[in-house]
Amino acid sequence: MAESAVFLDRDGTIVEDSGYLDDPEGLVIYGEALDAVQLIREVGMKVVVVTNQSGLARGLFSEKTLHDIHDILREAFLHQGSPLDAIYFCPHHPRAEVAQYRRHCNCRKPEPGLLRRAAEALGIDLARSYMIGDKMSDIVAGHRAGCKAAVLVKTGQGTQSASRLEKLNPPRNDSTGNRRPLDRPEHVASDILQAAQWILEDRRVPREDD
Ligand SMILES: [Mg+2]
Ligand SMILES: [Zn+2]
Repeated sequence: MAESAVFLDRDGTIVEDSGYLDDPEGLVIYGEALDAVQLIREVGMKVVVVTNQSGLARGLFSEKTLHDIHDILREAFLHQGSPLDAIYFCPHHPRAEVAQYRRHCNCRKPEPGLLRRAAEALGIDLARSYMIGDKMSDIVAGHRAGCKAAVLVKTGQGTQSASRLEKLNPPRNDSTGNRRPLDRPEHVASDILQAAQWILEDRRVPREDD
């Protein structure tokens, strides 16, 4: 049977969102992220980071710098005994300063390309997998990829995302039978650890529309 995974956004979800992080020294990993990844791995799910890094397109840092940052990130999780299975990033932007990254790609979230590429490479069953992120684009990407559920965390830009969600999308009565809109998370968690705990509960029950 194919593996299931939890896809994690990077900035504001597992590390502090410091704008366009261009220096490995500035990387601050949330302690809750280390615990969350441990929990997820304990039940045999894979952990894959999927991150938009348009700072590359904007010429704010090089791929070398991004790889240095990701080496430190991988090392930190490895050191904790809970390695990340993979990190996928989108370097593109439609109006990039740097020509090689200027395109309308299928991998910049809310597009699902990063999740699909990871699923193909790692043999992941998306229908049994989950997305966690602090922005609506994370939630939409998770749903477009066909994940079972997407969880919004209130770290990073998550508090703004959650309040925007309440204003734009008043809670809808489930009994109407309408399909959930792509940008509506199945759950809102205070942080990634609570999100992981919700997922471990949720994976034990089939979805209503399964
Ligand atoms: Mg984010
Ligand atoms: Zn892309």
